[in-house]
Amino acid sequence: MALVTVFCLLLLGHAQAATAATASGRVPDDMNQDIKTAVYAVNRYWAAHWRQYFPGYYRPPYVLGAYGGGLRAAPVCGNSRVAYDNAVYCPYGDYIAWDITLMAGGYRAGDAWVYLIIAHEWAHAVQNRIPSRFVPAAKELQADCLAGAVLSGAARDRTLVFEDGDVGELRAALRALADDTPWTDTGDHGNARQRVNAFTYGTRHGVRGCLA
Ligand SMILES: [Zn+2]
Repeated sequence: MALVTVFCLLLLGHAQAATAATASGRVPDDMNQDIKTAVYAVNRYWAAHWRQYFPGYYRPPYVLGAYGGGLRAAPVCGNSRVAYDNAVYCPYGDYIAWDITLMAGGYRAGDAWVYLIIAHEWAHAVQNRIPSRFVPAAKELQADCLAGAVLSGAARDRTLVFEDGDVGELRAALRALADDTPWTDTGDHGNARQRVNAFTYGTRHGVRGCLA
């Protein structure tokens, strides 16, 4: 995916992606730019559309950004450190963070990976902000649905443009996260078919279609 227009990242306020670079240089150069673009596009979508769906004003989570991979230790969330090879929304600190190794591993198969992870974790921040009646028991599948709604919505807004292969990459990423990534508990996140279906439902029915 790519940003259609070049925007000033300073408009993001505190919602800026940490620029990450591993000492070994194994992370593709473009990945950090894609992460910034994903943060920008997801934040912009929620800022522009919040009042269509929810009461009150939108407030972005803090983007703590990358850890692991020789960058810095995993951050603390509540009483414990978040897991390596994972990505997280921490409700205690109201922040989003990701292991750079997880990002780089999936990014090798396609750039859509980082967009999915950031849109999914951002959706957990949204769940933490909205009335609980909107949030179903299957919070992980709703986060996938909202990720689909936001990425496709950003494309409709012409903030993001989907490139050839992105849709296939997104499906592959959801399957990988359901089946293969060690931190993923299929009981919590749903199996591959459920995750792909939830994401696809969001792309077709938008934010409202994802709400309980
Ligand atoms: Zn999740």
